[in-house]
Amino acid sequence: MPTGPQANGGTNRDVTNVFESRAFLDSFAEGLIIHDLEGRIIDANSAATTLLGVTRDQLLARTPFDSRWNAVKEDGSYFPGDEYPAMVVLRTRQPCIDVIMGVDVPDAPRRWITISAHPLVIDEGFEGVSSIFADVTGAIALQDTLRETDDLLRIVAQNAADVVVLASKDAVAEWISDSVTELLGWTPEELVGQRIDTFVHPDDLGEVVNFRADSPKSLTATFFVRLRQKDKNYRWTAISSRRFTDHITHASRIVSSWHDAQDLVATRKQLEASEARFRFLAENASDIMVETDANFIVTWISPSVSELLGWKPEAILQRTLAEFIMHDDLPAVHYERASLEAGIKSNNIKIRCLTESGSYRWMVGRVRQMRDDKGIVTSYVVSLRDIHVEESIRRELESSEEHYRLLAENGADVIILVGADNIYRWASPSSIDLLGVSPNEIVGKGPTDFVHPDDMELIAYSLAHPTKDVYGVDKIRYRQSNGDYVWVSARARNVRGDDGQLTARVVALRDISAQVLAEAAHSASESRLRVVLDNQSDVTAMLNLDGFIEWITPSVLGLIGWRADEVIGHRITEFVDVADIPGMTIVIGNVIAGHPAEHEARLRTITGDERWVATRAVPLFDRNGETTGSIINVRDVNTEHLVRARLAESEERFRLAMVSAPIGMAVIGLDRHFLEVNLALCHMVGRDEKWMLQHRVPDILDPAEDPLDVHMHAEALSGHVIRSGREKRFLRADGTLIWVDHAISLLRDDAGLPQSFVSTFVDVTDARATQEKLRYQATHDTLTHLVNRRDLYNRAKHLQTHLARTGDRVGVLYIDIDGFKTINDTFGHFVGDATLKVVAERLAAVGRIDDVVSRVGGDEFVILLPALHRIDDASSVAQKILKSFAEPINAEGSTFDVGVSIGVALAELGETADDTLRRADAALYQAKLRGRGQSVVWDVDFN
Ligand code: GH3
Ligand code: MG
Repeated sequence: MPTGPQANGGTNRDVTNVFESRAFLDSFAEGLIIHDLEGRIIDANSAATTLLGVTRDQLLARTPFDSRWNAVKEDGSYFPGDEYPAMVVLRTRQPCIDVIMGVDVPDAPRRWITISAHPLVIDEGFEGVSSIFADVTGAIALQDTLRETDDLLRIVAQNAADVVVLASKDAVAEWISDSVTELLGWTPEELVGQRIDTFVHPDDLGEVVNFRADSPKSLTATFFVRLRQKDKNYRWTAISSRRFTDHITHASRIVSSWHDAQDLVATRKQLEASEARFRFLAENASDIMVETDANFIVTWISPSVSELLGWKPEAILQRTLAEFIMHDDLPAVHYERASLEAGIKSNNIKIRCLTESGSYRWMVGRVRQMRDDKGIVTSYVVSLRDIHVEESIRRELESSEEHYRLLAENGADVIILVGADNIYRWASPSSIDLLGVSPNEIVGKGPTDFVHPDDMELIAYSLAHPTKDVYGVDKIRYRQSNGDYVWVSARARNVRGDDGQLTARVVALRDISAQVLAEAAHSASESRLRVVLDNQSDVTAMLNLDGFIEWITPSVLGLIGWRADEVIGHRITEFVDVADIPGMTIVIGNVIAGHPAEHEARLRTITGDERWVATRAVPLFDRNGETTGSIINVRDVNTEHLVRARLAESEERFRLAMVSAPIGMAVIGLDRHFLEVNLALCHMVGRDEKWMLQHRVPDILDPAEDPLDVHMHAEALSGHVIRSGREKRFLRADGTLIWVDHAISLLRDDAGLPQSFVSTFVDVTDARATQEKLRYQATHDTLTHLVNRRDLYNRAKHLQTHLARTGDRVGVLYIDIDGFKTINDTFGHFVGDATLKVVAERLAAVGRIDDVVSRVGGDEFVILLPALHRIDDASSVAQKILKSFAEPINAEGSTFDVGVSIGVALAELGETADDTLRRADAALYQAKLRGRGQSVVWDVDFN
C-alpha cells in the first residue's frame, strides 16, 4: 500500500518532515491530489476541495472514470477518463504538464483549471501520482476577450477598403491585410518581411523619406506615390501613415493605410492639362480673354491686354470690368448681362474699352456665363476683339442710328429724370410695368415716396458720395402701386450745366428680383459647398443590427470633427445628410440580410458641413453564422468629388472659351486633322462641325497656301507660338476665298510630348477689303480712276531705282488737253468731266500693260513708260496718242474734237523722278508754244 502524507503525520515534526505536514499542504493555493497505482484518489488538500467545489470525502477513492467528474476540454468537448493527467502518468511514468480542464462546480460558472501530474516515487519505488492544479478561469476568460478583440481588429482590418499595413520603424512590412492582393496583386506573404521602399517608384521615394523625417508622431500624413504591382506596372496609391510607439515593446512602428488613387491622380492630371489648354488658347488668341466672378470683378485676363490696351494684366485684376468700359456703353453691357440671366442667347456687343493712356478703343465682346450644378452663375468669360479702325469709320456714319439702338435696348429700364431738388420731373412709360404707376403719378414725387424706408440710407449715402458723375445702388426696394416692394438696381448720372452746377440726375431703375432670389439661394448653398481640403485616412465602424455605432476608429475625428466616444452609441444615420439617409438605410438593410454593399453619401460634420464619403459595408457574423451587425468602411472622397467637379468646370471653361470666341478656334491633331472646332470657325468656312471633324486643315486652305501651312505646323512643333505673318487664303464651302489671320501653338501631353495644336483663325477679308479701298482712294483719282499725282511720284521713284539696276530707261509723256477751258465754257463742267474720263480711257488704251497712266492735275496727264531703250520708243507712243485723238469725242450727248499736246522726256541715270517730270513738262510747254496738237521731245535748250 502506498503511504500518503497522512500516514506519517503527527510524529517526527522536524524541518524535513514539514513537507509532509497536513497544515503545510493545506496552506497551498494550488490544489494537490494523490492517486494510488489504480488511479484512485487517496488524499487531497483543502485547496483541492475548494477549487473543485466538493468535500474531501467525496473526492477520496474517486477514479478519473467516475461519472461525477463532468470535465470538458478547452474546446468544450468531453474529457475522457484515460486522458486525465494522472492516468497518463500511470501509463507513461512521465510527468504530464499544464493540461487545461473545465470542471462544473455546483452553484458557480464552469471553472477552468490547469493540471500538472508527476509520478510519486518513494525510495526509488513508483508508488502513485501527485497532481497539482490551479484555477485559471480568469486567465481563460481574459484570453477569450483578447481573442475576440483580436478577431475584431482582424475583421476591421480585413474589411477595410484600404490596405492596412503594419511596419517596423524602418518600413519593413510586419503585417498586411489581404486586400493588398486586390490593390497590387501581391499576397500579404509576399510582402511581409520586405522593405516597403523597394516597392515605391524611384521618383516618389522623396515623399516617403520626407514623411519619415518630418511627420510628428501620432499625426497622420497622407502622400501619393506609385507602388509596384505584381505585374510590374505601377499604381498611384494614397498612403496615410502614422508613427506610433508600441506600448508593449516600446518600439517605434508605422501603421499605414493604402488606397487606390489611380483615378484621382489621373483626374488631377487631366485638370492640369485642361487648365493649361485653356490658358494656352486664351493667351495665344489675338483677342483679349477675361474671366470675372459673378459680380464682374476680373479674376483673370490674358496678357494680350497689354498689347491692345496698354494695361498690364495686374492693373486690371480684382477691379470691376465696368471701370474699363466707357459709361455710354455700360447700358449695353447691363442689358447683355440681364439677357444672359434671363437665359437669352448671348450676342456680340460693341463697347469702348479704356486704354492706359486714357483714350478708348472699340472692341467687340461676347459674354458667357459659367453656372454651377445648381444653375447659379459663378463667373463670366468675356472675349474682346479689337475693331477700332472699322468701327470708328462705321460709327461716324451711323451715329444717329446707333443712338436709337441704345435707347431701344434700354427699354426695359425705368428712366427717371430727377431735379437737383430731388423731385421727379419725368419718368419713362415703362414705370407702369415695373412699379404699376404711370409717369404722371411719379412726376412731382420724390425718393421717399417710393424707396423702402430701410433702403433710404443707401440712397442718401450714394448721393453724398458721388465718386464720379455716375453712381449707383445695386439693390434697393421700390414700392409698387399695390404696396409690394420690387428689388431694383439704380444707376444715376449727374447732368451738369455749363457752369458745372448740378441741374438734374438721370436715374435708371432695373428689375433685379430674379437676381436677388438667385443670390439668396446661392449664399445658402455656398456654406454647404465649402471646400474641406484635409485628406484623412479611412474610418471604420462596427454597427449593431439597429445601425447603432458600437465601435469606431479614432480617425472619425479628422473626418467629421466628432470624437469616437461622442459618436459611439448613436445611429450612423444621425451623421448622414438627410438626402442620403434612404440610401444609407438600404445599405444597412442589405448588409443585415448578409450582402456586402457599397454607396456614396454625404456625412454631416460637427460644423454642419457635408462631406462626400464612399462607404463599403460587410455583414458581421457570430460563430453560429448569425448576422450580429456590420462593419462599415468610410472613405473620404470629398477631394475626388471636388477635383472631378473642377475638371468639369475647367473643361466647360475651355469649351465656353472656344464656343464664345468671336474668332475661329480649333484643336488640330499632329496630322492636321481637326479634333475640336468652334462655331465661329465653322461659320467662317461655311462648313458644319461634323464635316470639319472629318477633314484636315489642307481641306479648307487655298491649295497655294499649303506649303506655308505645313511650314507653320513644323515650326510650331518647336514649341513657339507661330503667327502666319501675312494673311492666308482659306477656301469656303461655296468656293469663295477668304483672308484669314492664322496662329498656331503646340499642346503637349503629360510627358511633354507634342499632342496637338491649338489654332486661332480671324477672318480679315472685310478688314482687308476696307484697307484695300482706303489704299485705292489714297492712290487714285476719283473721277478717272487713274493713278493720282502722289502715287505717280512713288511709282516713278520706284521705276527709277529699278532702272539703276537693269539699265533700262523710263520714258515720261506729259500730256495736257488743248483748249479744255473752252469745252468747259461751251458745254459746261458736267461735259468737261465726261471729257476727262474719255481722254483717260483713250490714254489707257494706248501703250503696254505695265505703262502707268495718271491724272496729275485738272487737264494734265502723265504716262510712265518703263523698260525703254531710246527716246524714239517714247516718241512713237506719243504719236499713237495723238493719232487716237483724230476721232471726235462723244461726251454726255455732245460730240466734238479734242486735241492734246505732249511733252516727251527719257529718264537719265542719276536723275531724280522729279527732274525727269520737270523736263517732260518743259517739253509740253514747247508743244503748246509750237501750236498744240503735237508732241515735243525735251531738248537741253528748253532750260
Ligand atoms: P491750253 O490749251 O493752254 O491747255 O488751254 P486750256 O483751256 O486747256 O487751259 P488750261 O490747261 O490752263 O486749263 C485747264 C482748265 O481745266 C482749267 C479748269 O477750269 C479746268 N478744269 C480743271 N479741273 C477740272 C475738272 O475736274 N473738271 C472740269 N470740267 N474742268 C476742270
Ligand atoms: Mg489745257
